[in-house]
Amino acid sequence: MEFKQQFDVIVVGGGHAGTEACLAAARMGCRTLLLTHSVDTLGQMSCNPAIGGIGKSHLVKEVDALGGAMARATDRAGIQFRVLNSRKGPAVRATRAQADRVLYRNAIREILERQENLFIFQQPVDDLLIENGVIAGAITQMGVIFRAPRVVLTTGTFLGGKLHIGMENSAGGRAGDPPSIALASLLREMPFRVERLKTGTPPRIDARSVDFTGLQEQWGDEPIPVMSFLGSAEEHPEQRCCWITHTNERTHDIIRAGLDRSPLFSGVIEGVGPRYCPSVEDKIHRFADKNSHQVFIEPEGLSTPELYPNGISTSLPFDVQIDLVHSIKGFENAHITRPGYAIEYDFFDPRDLQYSLETKALPGLYFAGQINGTTGYEEAAAQGLLAGLNAALAVKGEQPWCPRRDEAYIGVLVDDLITMGTIEPYRMFTSRAEHRLLLREDNADLRLTETGRALGLVGDARWRRFEAKREAIARETERLAATWIHPGSPEAKALEPRLTSPMSREYSLADLLKRPELEYGDIASLKGAPVDDEQAAQQVAIQAKYAGYIDRQQDEIERLRRHENTPLPTDLDYAQVDGLSNEVRQKLAEARPDTLARASRIPGVTAAAISLLLIYLKKRG
Ligand code: FAD
Repeated sequence: MEFKQQFDVIVVGGGHAGTEACLAAARMGCRTLLLTHSVDTLGQMSCNPAIGGIGKSHLVKEVDALGGAMARATDRAGIQFRVLNSRKGPAVRATRAQADRVLYRNAIREILERQENLFIFQQPVDDLLIENGVIAGAITQMGVIFRAPRVVLTTGTFLGGKLHIGMENSAGGRAGDPPSIALASLLREMPFRVERLKTGTPPRIDARSVDFTGLQEQWGDEPIPVMSFLGSAEEHPEQRCCWITHTNERTHDIIRAGLDRSPLFSGVIEGVGPRYCPSVEDKIHRFADKNSHQVFIEPEGLSTPELYPNGISTSLPFDVQIDLVHSIKGFENAHITRPGYAIEYDFFDPRDLQYSLETKALPGLYFAGQINGTTGYEEAAAQGLLAGLNAALAVKGEQPWCPRRDEAYIGVLVDDLITMGTIEPYRMFTSRAEHRLLLREDNADLRLTETGRALGLVGDARWRRFEAKREAIARETERLAATWIHPGSPEAKALEPRLTSPMSREYSLADLLKRPELEYGDIASLKGAPVDDEQAAQQVAIQAKYAGYIDRQQDEIERLRRHENTPLPTDLDYAQVDGLSNEVRQKLAEARPDTLARASRIPGVTAAAISLLLIYLKKRG
């Protein structure tokens, strides 16, 4: 049967990529349909109930700056908030929230159900409608044909999903959900490069069977941070404590003794797992010299006693899981509520995509999220938003948009994926961005909200708030630069005990703020009234303190842009260029690009490598 109404954009999958994709397209005025297995699992967190963290919060805040849902839902569902790296520089500071799984799902569902232009239908998609070599819609399991000129696939770990516990395995998209088999077979027949990856999750534990005596408590930060630029701590539900325990020699002996029945080590699992989120058996094997690993005990929510023991993800047989859990301090009598497991699934080589995340082989079809070889809710959300907005732009006949590497982590993510591809689950880190001082989590709105508004992604309320903040920053920056403190004045005397060297001359408040021993709070109210917008005050302080470094990075970006057409000698010996990795040397030597711009488009040749080439060419003269 063919559904009567036509849509502009169809999004398949209601996970983190899918929800941001359909919301973005609908916000931009497109009639959008979300097709997903179950309305009850919209926004489901398949694994760890936490959002954000290093590199990841940067993506969440960028999605937020562009009007997305993830940060707003986190503020309504977060039961513990912390700023990681708070003592380090602002580039690597990252907000992380422990979330109540049910509250998070409810918040996402509410946002989806209130979105204008968005329609939801619960049905698996088994087939794609293709007409004259371009996408024309999607066909569900019960044969309903939905038409749209743009389709975004965000099927996560579900394509050909296979769950492993010990030597037993079964088909599934994640525990409790069916896999996508028909769609996986269809995609395998198309001209996309396909591979297998794997990921895993720990057994869950009933808090009522845990002995917390002597376990290290971990509370969130005070004042409680927020995730969204529109968020406030009043929105947060009750805040909860987490705990830390450790594996020990006995745990490791139990794991080693079970390795012969591990699907990972016996070759049953072929897919590559996430390097930075390894299973506990992987950690014991790879770091054989370590006799203990940390386990963070995180509540799954406010209304359930279930705990998520972060650090013991495993696919060992269930009897081994019971023994290894019981060997850990506090878990001696722990009751496991759900076994840990690993999942293998199909992913498609992201080098077969364009910057818009549209597939090169089938016009109108987009891929976003774990289907592209990434791991993590945040990476999925960022891609979903991008694919959704580009599908909407295409419907309107406009050019695609993707932020540059120096504009956003979303740009870094997409550029890395489509130029280099990935052979293991890709996760974001601040170290992947060469211009990280510009791409801070705190200024994501200043970098992106204006573009988001122009694209039609940012609503009036967010825009008004943003404009007020931007004006407050400008006003306060001006005031600090124009307010002077004279040596010997009462203001200077009040400041004296904090200064490491005396004030020998007149200083503006802006100059004083650059001193490492002074914070915004020390100088802002010396003369005149400080800005009462906390986010604006933070920006003024960071921009003043890091002005030198920020200017230098901006110059470097300009320089790289100016030199894009710099010729590269065809006989250049790349072995002589200091700092290049062997992989990059080999790729450049093989391709022999004639300009820096061409070199930068070779998969695997990073922006950092281009900088090194520039330095070399300059030295060579
Ligand atoms: P998903 O969140 O998987 O959502 C996919 C959606 O598509 C679902 O709603 C599904 O119902 C729907 N769908 C699928 N096929 C169809 C179809 N044919 N028709 C209609 N709807 C369909 N990430 C980490 O960062 N670290 C980890 O340690 C980690 N461990 C994990 C362990 C397990 C066991 C699993 C399952 C996932 C783990 N993840 C981990 C990955 C994390 O869950 C994903 O990165 C994230 O959920 C990806 O979001 P997504 O939107 O791409 O896909």
